[in-house]
Amino acid sequence: MSIEVRNLVKRFGTLAVCDNLNLTINSGELVALLGPSGSGKTTLLRIIAGLEKADSGSVLFHGDDATRTAVRERNVGFVFQHYALFPQMNIFENVAFGLRVRPRATRPSEAQIRAKVMDLLKLVQLDWLAERYPHQLSGGQRQRIALARALAVEPKVLLLDEPFGALDAKVRKELRRWLRRLHDEMHVTSVFVTHDQDEAMEVADRIVVMNQGRIEQDGSPDQVYDHPATPFVLQFLGDVN
Ligand code: ADP
Repeated sequence: MSIEVRNLVKRFGTLAVCDNLNLTINSGELVALLGPSGSGKTTLLRIIAGLEKADSGSVLFHGDDATRTAVRERNVGFVFQHYALFPQMNIFENVAFGLRVRPRATRPSEAQIRAKVMDLLKLVQLDWLAERYPHQLSGGQRQRIALARALAVEPKVLLLDEPFGALDAKVRKELRRWLRRLHDEMHVTSVFVTHDQDEAMEVADRIVVMNQGRIEQDGSPDQVYDHPATPFVLQFLGDVN
């Protein structure tokens, strides 16, 4: 599913958080929105998700105006920084959740749900934890479950907001590989917000560098790293964060 952002403007008061953004994300790409805190990454992601309304401009999913589609019909999976798992449900039920809340007409049978959930848990190699509860898992395991959960509804688009932000460096590195692998295996189009340039360089097919609501550069990791397009990009990449 391709995503196209056209002339997107979003203001909070007088602050232009998305200042006339134009961006095309091709089907199957894994794109990082990279920039410092406050540059508008999360707001752009939330507008793509349909969780926030733009003041003007549009977001097209596969050429169709997504603003006319309800959030639950957009075929989008989410993973957020703060563990989005339900503490009172076991791991199996957490992953099954998106399937159980489907309208009756499209809801899979119990046997189908079981098969699907166990397949996903095997994919993230955590099927042995199906009966456990979130608090019994490590932070890295929880985010692998969060990825499995987002993928349970077979989204065409996966949106991730600093998904590994709260974790230590070693676990983050491991999760980057999981994200890349799941992205490729599930044939999704993924947009992922980070302020960590190493994360963006390692995982993404393409990096969109944002600053103060604008796109400073949009290119492959090599292009951005070897040929910073603006003084801001040069300086941002030079900072060790
Ligand atoms: P980033 O994800 O790059 O850190 P955000 O999109 O979260 O940036 O925020 C961009 C700017 O918009 C920040 O200055 C933030 O304070 C402001 N902002 C975000 N959401 C709101 C809101 N609901 N109301 C007012 N200001 C907001």
